[in-house]
Amino acid sequence: VTNIIHLRFLSVPENVGLARVAIAALAGQAAFSLNDIDEIKVAVSEAVSNAIIHGYQGRTDGWVELSGTLDAQQITIVVEDFGVGIHDVDQARQASYSTDPERMGLGFVFMESFMHGLTVQSTVGQGTRVEMQR
Ligand code: ATP
Ligand code: MG
Repeated sequence: VTNIIHLRFLSVPENVGLARVAIAALAGQAAFSLNDIDEIKVAVSEAVSNAIIHGYQGRTDGWVELSGTLDAQQITIVVEDFGVGIHDVDQARQASYSTDPERMGLGFVFMESFMHGLTVQSTVGQGTRVEMQR
């Protein structure tokens, strides 16, 4: 199956679940195991949570864009926000690094370990784009 979805939703925490369901339904159209799909859902949750929590810092009026592209071999997922951006992406991707002392700093680590490629582009004051394949 070749298929593409685009979703644009507000930075409301409830939409993390929406993103998970949408991506799981798309991945379910290809030959992924249930375990693969669970891991893909975790990666999407982490990226969308970051957009909402960090990108928009709790504001619920920002747009988050999610796309999923499926072909026979792989799924490519892009999560984009137009929030504060990240000043040092390499540092942000380190295990246990978080700007919030209450958090674990493991979101990017999960994305990296559950997906086969992770690209993070960010500009301070403009936003962040996370692309990952599996
Ligand atoms: P956890 O994911 O374990 O709850 P965390 O979100 O702090 O903790 P990561 O997901 O690894 O950890 O992100 C690391 C840091 O990168 C964040 O603390 C935040 O400073 C920054 N960051 C990540 N995504 C974004 C984003 N979309 N916009 C702005 N900053 C971000
Ligand atoms: Mg996170």
